[in-house]
Amino acid sequence: MTWRATVLTLFPAMFPGPLGHSLAGRALAQGVWSLAAEDIRAYAPGRHRSVDDAPFGGGAGMVMRPDVVDAALAACADDRPAIYLTPRGARLDQPTVRRLAAGSGVVLLCGRYEGVDQRVIEARGLLELSIGDYVLSGGEPAALVLLDACVRLLPGVMGAAASAEDESFAAGLLEYPHYTRPADWCGRRVPEVLLSGHHAAVAAWREAEAVRITRARRPDLPADRSGDPAPAALPGATVAGSGPAP
Ligand code: SAM
Repeated sequence: MTWRATVLTLFPAMFPGPLGHSLAGRALAQGVWSLAAEDIRAYAPGRHRSVDDAPFGGGAGMVMRPDVVDAALAACADDRPAIYLTPRGARLDQPTVRRLAAGSGVVLLCGRYEGVDQRVIEARGLLELSIGDYVLSGGEPAALVLLDACVRLLPGVMGAAASAEDESFAAGLLEYPHYTRPADWCGRRVPEVLLSGHHAAVAAWREAEAVRITRARRPDLPADRSGDPAPAALPGATVAGSGPAP
């Protein structure tokens, strides 16, 4: 079954962008996943098709109108989680990505200006996700990041050679270091154990390195393979209301 992504944006030409290349691009061409970039402006009323207005209470910037955003969400609402990409959201992590990739797809709302009127976020029960503690000028790069992370986990996309089981965050650990030829580069030698052909010793060395690096760089991670690869539920509310917002 095709994993379906709908992106609601004021800049549909930004899609598929980088997702039209490499693994994600091939999978898109093969129908493993589909992408619809919908122009939010198409749902704006009036001759000027205005999508934003000044904030109540004053202050800098503009706010995306609830009626316009609601109409755009209503046009694609189904069983998929509807997600508003926002720096105020729960931090996107690998367990959440796995959970989203295991479903039927996503509806992604990309904000611009100061963001979206709070009432439509609440009325539609949007799941709010952030890709990190910094502020982008719009949700589109965040949507591309989320989609890339999900699509590579879809069955068949990475192929047999690469495994999602072994990589960073799969079990709460960061990944061990990689080396390739030449075995001696500018006087820097590859760790001897990797040249030994002793599979158990290689596996033990990689595990120890993964734990060492995780402890040093990310003390917030468990560093003992106890990380949950997919939480039972997504953080926050998940499903867009299928009816019109009150
Ligand atoms: N006024 C907002 C604030 O201070 O939280 C920032 C608005 S930002 C200029 C415009 C849009 O970019 C947001 O509505 C959101 O869709 C997107 N955005 C910015 N940073 C993001 C992040 N870290 N993760 C996800 N989306 C982000």
